[in-house]
Amino acid sequence: MKKPINADFFIDMFNIYSVKLLNTTIPIVRDNRNDAVAVSEIYDDGRVVVRYNSRQMGSLCKAELLACVFHEIRHIQQGILPYITEEQKVRQELDAEGYALQMLKEHYPDLINEYIKAFKLRLYKRNYKKKYPEHYKAFIQIIEYKKEA
Ligand SMILES: [Zn+2]
Repeated sequence: MKKPINADFFIDMFNIYSVKLLNTTIPIVRDNRNDAVAVSEIYDDGRVVVRYNSRQMGSLCKAELLACVFHEIRHIQQGILPYITEEQKVRQELDAEGYALQMLKEHYPDLINEYIKAFKLRLYKRNYKKKYPEHYKAFIQIIEYKKEA
């Protein structure tokens, strides 16, 4: 089955930046059972797999897909925690999204405003806070994503 264009773009960019930033390539598999756009699974033995949802990805612009690449790369750099509290998860999300924003500013400055606008639209959708409470708690701390900003 042919992958949608958005997923192809995500995979291409993920491959380029995982070599640049992680010095390795990571297996990327489509998995539409998970609601998140992409998740990085890091196993005890050090293996990493990125799972993406092609349906969720279908609604994202290029700026959002690039940010998603950097966000997941940061989670892989963070590595695995033996036991993770809610507070740690919030901190990891804040760190990953801060990194994504920084990388976009550095490498794709022409896309940054489009990205922030698109991200805020998703963040302040009615269900987001309920569905992803830790993400919400983390992301509202980022100054660029403040409701009034
Ligand atoms: Zn995350």
